[in-house]
Amino acid sequence: MVQTEIAILGGGPGGYVAALRAAHLGARVALIEENAVGGVCLNVGCIPTKALLRSAEVYRTFRRAEAFGLRLEGRVTPDWPAIQRRKEAIVRQLVGGVELLLRKAGVQVIRGRGRFVAPRVLEVTTADGRERIEAVRSIVIATGSRPAPLPLPGLDSAGVLDSTGALGLDSLPRRLLIIGGGVIGVEFADLFNAFGVQVTVVEMLDRLLPLMDADLGAALAWTLGQRGVQVHVNSRVTRVEAVAGGLRATVATPAGELPLEADQVLVAVGRWPNVENLGLEAAGVHYDRSGIAVDDRMQTNVPGLYAVGDVTGGPQLAHVAMRGGEVAVENALGRATRLDLKTVPWCVYTDPEIAGVGLSQAQAQEKGYELQVGRFPLNASGRALTYGETDGFVKVVGETRFGELLGLHIVAPHAGELIHEGGLALALEATLDELIATLHGHPTLGEAVREAALAARGEAVHLPRQTQTAGR
Ligand code: FAD
Repeated sequence: MVQTEIAILGGGPGGYVAALRAAHLGARVALIEENAVGGVCLNVGCIPTKALLRSAEVYRTFRRAEAFGLRLEGRVTPDWPAIQRRKEAIVRQLVGGVELLLRKAGVQVIRGRGRFVAPRVLEVTTADGRERIEAVRSIVIATGSRPAPLPLPGLDSAGVLDSTGALGLDSLPRRLLIIGGGVIGVEFADLFNAFGVQVTVVEMLDRLLPLMDADLGAALAWTLGQRGVQVHVNSRVTRVEAVAGGLRATVATPAGELPLEADQVLVAVGRWPNVENLGLEAAGVHYDRSGIAVDDRMQTNVPGLYAVGDVTGGPQLAHVAMRGGEVAVENALGRATRLDLKTVPWCVYTDPEIAGVGLSQAQAQEKGYELQVGRFPLNASGRALTYGETDGFVKVVGETRFGELLGLHIVAPHAGELIHEGGLALALEATLDELIATLHGHPTLGEAVREAALAARGEAVHLPRQTQTAGR
């Protein structure tokens, strides 16, 4: 029997950050992980996708080198195995880095699969047998999620992939059908399209990125369309079958049934929380199909037991898992902290990037706010022109009573970096006046945020006045 103060089940972003934070606060910590530390994010999620997308971005830039006054003497062609090796090296480096941090922090990492046998006791099946771990203070459940299966005929055919399968492809398919136009689906669409794959995306709802401000999905659909990606919204794949030379999907579209052929089909329709076979009943922890129920201190219904990250059914994002991990162990160790979801940024690493924080225009309207909405197009930004990247915009959603910012939505290079100004403004309940009074460097893409706030008043400096009233 190993005795520890805090045990953490699962070493993904939620679990490893919880372990590091607890150790830094002076606690004795055991972390149980059955695979590589870093979880989905480092191994088969955030990091490998972004590594591949970066290769795609560089390739696209090379292909239009002449637009920058650069003449290429030879051809630039994608070497997919080399691109994969670069991705794997980055993953290895980061996983090694997390292992080192855990070691330096004195966290005891136990390799194996854990389950509850009592509210404060885990049994871990390791390569050498079984080990019992008693946590005298708390246990944090951070077991993450897995791809949601789609109960459709034919999805067990060879060539049907989930995101992990798509990341590990050893050659590029000629034609790829992606089921699901959410964040994961569109990132893969952008990636494979860049390398010349014929990509089709089928989305059941009425737009891409249905969880984000409607203007973002519309902009992305336009960009993907320009690049030759076929997008079918309000459409459902009803069947997949193996045919000579590939797969055939039947797609129910508003215009009728459509047969679509592809070499590979990627299913990206969401993720299910890993709540099964954890002995949660032995611990008395409440959960359902959407995950383990927690409050904003990440506390489950059982005192001393916390849950964080994808397994809780909250936003399935690595940064939410990481912050959840910090909040859980801080509470376990007597500090009262809370997870504030108001400032969660959603970032999509397509080219251009897409990011949003706070309320979409539709959500703000549903809540009954009287709105002031400003939009600033990137083709009016000097910095965007110098980048040669003028597709995109910044959209500010504010309310009129106090002039408070409610949401910020961006399609632009580095949108994922630019969005944090909005997060901080939301955390501080800042007004559009305060955004406007904040000096933004020139020339930067960040200036577009200030200009969008000005546009909400019809006062953007670098736009004709007549164009500034749309969207109010
Ligand atoms: P996970 O990362 O799923 O980790 C859970 C860990 O627990 C795993 O290592 C697992 O092996 C271990 N485990 C489970 N059960 C047990 C057990 N019984 N015993 C021992 N160990 C166990 N999010 C972003 O914020 N940005 C992105 O760009 C992004 N890109 C993504 C791209 C893809 C393709 C995918 C699939 C996801 C992406 N995500 C992204 C989501 C992100 O990966 C998850 O939100 C994040 O990994 C959740 O962290 P977690 O700690 O809750 O769980």
